[in-house]
Amino acid sequence: MAAISPMLASVQATLGPEMLQMIQNSKILLVGAGGIGCELLKNLAFTGFRHVTVIDLDTIDVSNLNRQLLFRTHHVGQPKCTVAAQVASQMVPLNPLSSSSLAVQYTAHHANVCDSTIFDVQFVQTFHLVLNALDNVVARRRVNRLCLAADVPLVEAGTTGYLGQVNVIHKNSDVACYECHTQETQKVYPICTIRSTPSMPVHTIVWAKELYKLLFGEKVEESMLYEDPRGEETSTYMKPVLDFRDDMVSAKRGDTTTSTSTVIEKQGLQIITALYVTEIQKQLDMDRYKTASKTPKVLSADALVAAAATPAPTKHESYRHTDLWSPAQCVAEFIACLQDAWQDPAAVLSSFDKDDAVSMRLVTAASNLRSHVFQIEPLQSYYSAKGIAGNIIPAIATTNAICAGLQILQAFCILRAQLKDGMANLDISECCSYVNCLRNATRNGLYLTAAQLEEPNPNCFVCKSASVSLALDTTKWTLGDFLNKICKADLGFEEPTLFLSDGGDCIWEEGQDADQASFAANLVKRLPELRIRHGTFLTIEDFSQNLEVNVTITHQDVWEASEGGEPDEFEFVIGGTKPVVAHEVPAPINGFEQRVTNGNNGKGDDSDDFIEFVEDDAKKRPLDEADDPASKKQKVSSNGSGHIDTIDIS
Ligand SMILES: [Zn+2]
Repeated sequence: MAAISPMLASVQATLGPEMLQMIQNSKILLVGAGGIGCELLKNLAFTGFRHVTVIDLDTIDVSNLNRQLLFRTHHVGQPKCTVAAQVASQMVPLNPLSSSSLAVQYTAHHANVCDSTIFDVQFVQTFHLVLNALDNVVARRRVNRLCLAADVPLVEAGTTGYLGQVNVIHKNSDVACYECHTQETQKVYPICTIRSTPSMPVHTIVWAKELYKLLFGEKVEESMLYEDPRGEETSTYMKPVLDFRDDMVSAKRGDTTTSTSTVIEKQGLQIITALYVTEIQKQLDMDRYKTASKTPKVLSADALVAAAATPAPTKHESYRHTDLWSPAQCVAEFIACLQDAWQDPAAVLSSFDKDDAVSMRLVTAASNLRSHVFQIEPLQSYYSAKGIAGNIIPAIATTNAICAGLQILQAFCILRAQLKDGMANLDISECCSYVNCLRNATRNGLYLTAAQLEEPNPNCFVCKSASVSLALDTTKWTLGDFLNKICKADLGFEEPTLFLSDGGDCIWEEGQDADQASFAANLVKRLPELRIRHGTFLTIEDFSQNLEVNVTITHQDVWEASEGGEPDEFEFVIGGTKPVVAHEVPAPINGFEQRVTNGNNGKGDDSDDFIEFVEDDAKKRPLDEADDPASKKQKVSSNGSGHIDTIDIS
């Protein structure tokens, strides 16, 4: 027998020679080469997998280096998948005397998995299993549907801060698919959006938290706004920030310094001027805001002058946390925070805490000033900023590593079942588990809990071909809106073709070989003109995901106004059968919370009541009423409220 490398010898000793053979011959598709993806690739390589294809559309950013372990400084700017595949392939232990040891094939596709011209059902069918390492719902939904159509098992994973979960999806095993249950919506924001082109209040709040780190953090380098002051192109705010930090350090030590409250005020103004005037103007001059939705305007001199005569709003007697601050008030509050911190340095927290007054006052003031400069609406009160700031969860490298490890264990279970029963008769419902990674131990002292895979939701249109009922004001909707807001954004079709079920008339066609031009005129027509009315049956088909769904239309012209606003003319309700996703900003799941919400805590494990989870508006609305036969409706408002925000930085 040929000599075997020590690493493979240990795999062989644990799993047996047949499994080692299986591992070495299996073809694996990995979608995503970021936080979880890098961990997965390393694990795949070390356990001897030799045929891995990686898809990722990102390039490596300097901020990835602290946790995406396959990347180094000299890789910055290169495609993640290419570097990851290349670095990981060199980690695969080889059998020194075997000629097959040369056949390590790690292939990279620098592309979007949603691109159906490259990644279709036939492509997925060439793999033994698929591993997901994604950060958004759109891509997850896409891979879910491709794997169901191809009948290839999918090992899905997601993390939110300290919490994570791993799940296995497989059509023929009759287990729940990704879209069987309503998911928590969550969003990951790229660093460049935060640093350069904010367009939502949450972007400026994340930025303000980083500013807090820059001003008060233990290590200034840990803020994503930090730039080496010796660098050639250092931002203009670094010098005044470091001056202030020096004074804070002296104040903390109790040194007698020459600083006074007036000196701190002056430093505060210098920081504010650098952040909201000089730096913005510098970037404008260099034409750096081309991709911004609105071109920023520097903070006006008037606001700065007015601030001198404006008291900090929180110092005012009649102040309430729901008040909105003017730009001048924000400047005054910003400075007051620095002064308060300098006067009582022992009380200052080195990391942001939403329940700490100075933290929240500074973040409210700083984020609103940035929103003002970038013309982002609405401005936020202390109270609303706190709500947003509290929902932002940092990505944690350890959770990613644990979940990637669990995915590999599930992959072993699948391969063992394939080895035993063959691909065609594969049933993973017994051998695989739904695993939760917890922050606090259960009563039994467990940080990982494994439960049986969930059963499919009989009302899921994706894996159970259930039909969907849809209520909307037919007279308000054009076909174009219907396609974009419902078929694509909500139901996740990419290339929908629409038929009227009675008579079979096609009213829209999309996708390869589609004759889109001849239907273009329909886009601006209102639904009744296309014979879509109360009681109409529609069929939506999408060849790119092998999916077809029947929709029954209910006309509804009276809608309740949503919270504090006019009724939205694009309101609609999808009846019980509709599976996933709130509107507009879909993203990664927290299936773990979904299980808490469903009251389904994993069959035999009673430990979920020990779990901390994030307060989220999304949970306040009925999520999975399909479980309740008396109520088969789920309301979807088009403002997509209530999502958890993950910022992919730590
Ligand atoms: Zn399903």
